Amino acid sequence: MIFRTKPHFIVKENLQKSKNTGIYFKDIVTPKVLEDVCFRITDRNDFTYEYVDNEYQDEFLDRSYNKGRIAIMQYNDMVYYISFSELQISGRNSSVQSVPTAYNMFYSNPYPKKRLFYYFLNVDGNAETDYQILIYRLMNTIGFEFLNASNELMYRIKPFISVEDIIFNRKINSGRNRSNNSTFITKGSNGEIEIFGKTYGANKYETSMFCYALSKLWQPGQIIKLYEVLEGDLKELPESSLNVIRQMGVINIIPTDMTLERKIFNSNNNLRSPRYVLNLFNKLGNKHCSLCNCEIPELIQGAHILPIAAIKRMSGLSMEEKLKIALDGENGLWLCENHHKMFDEGMITFDKEGQLCVKNDLDRRHLIFINESIKYKVLPQQFLSDKFLWYLNQRNSITK
Ligand SMILES: [Zn+2]
Repeated sequence: MIFRTKPHFIVKENLQKSKNTGIYFKDIVTPKVLEDVCFRITDRNDFTYEYVDNEYQDEFLDRSYNKGRIAIMQYNDMVYYISFSELQISGRNSSVQSVPTAYNMFYSNPYPKKRLFYYFLNVDGNAETDYQILIYRLMNTIGFEFLNASNELMYRIKPFISVEDIIFNRKINSGRNRSNNSTFITKGSNGEIEIFGKTYGANKYETSMFCYALSKLWQPGQIIKLYEVLEGDLKELPESSLNVIRQMGVINIIPTDMTLERKIFNSNNNLRSPRYVLNLFNKLGNKHCSLCNCEIPELIQGAHILPIAAIKRMSGLSMEEKLKIALDGENGLWLCENHHKMFDEGMITFDKEGQLCVKNDLDRRHLIFINESIKYKVLPQQFLSDKFLWYLNQRNSITK
């Protein structure tokens, strides 16, 4: 890299679809914006700049359009990556799309004297929702510095301090809004940290950000697994993101497609199905026992209403149809290990109103124990879909 005594910007002028949209990055990140950026980083107003086309390449920029909405500034022997916000924030993902790309470029470049910034353009729309704050906190955790956030906003953008901190805050954030979730982070029965993520479409940005931040906060002894839930032909995380995760060297990436699910279904170890777990998260929210409200993730399991063994015995169904039932989020509840066992042993079940029924020929002391261990004697109304009740009816008719 050339030693530069005056700050110098290089900005790719085209966005991916500039030719169609007529919106060019050089019209968004104008010399006026660069001046503000320069002053905030270096305390200087004098700088040089060049807007370059897709053909341009150097040690920091690829031959391509402007990936990651970034500008590169070089000053002395330092290089600064500045990623810019969108102008319009509409969907919950629109504000963060370019962030993982910017980070991938920054992280993958071996030049050691580098810093990474984020700059808010004059944003149209709310850029400070709880969800966006979560993303900014992830960004801060992995090394983004915010150039022009207000003091009030900076106060909310605190980096996460541990893997548990992320799990806890993710829980709060997803509790309000779980239907939109693409990533769930939890602990498995062995204490392993598990990320269940959709890795295609807009979801991949969020999943990537969680993986980077969790990698950054990893402590010796922790095991972190990313279950990529692949749909049809849709792919894994983008190669550039996977490369960064691999380079960070902490997360074990497990692509889970239907081939793997078939294998799990045939192996009788039905607790291990990532897709079933993800479907339960989507239906039931974060891990908590539906009966005693235990929230210790290591103790919570996905309990099938219609058990795998019974599904396998169903006649007139193809293997694929059976697998669909086994993976259906409607065919399950979160239960703690104790209540899962009671359910599977037939000591407890539910009637069609979701009311708890305890087997009445149990030892009286055990009956008392079971009753005292259960806080909620009726399932929440929103769990009782037609499909859920159908599975329940099937179960009850088998076990009677
Ligand atoms: Zn329980």
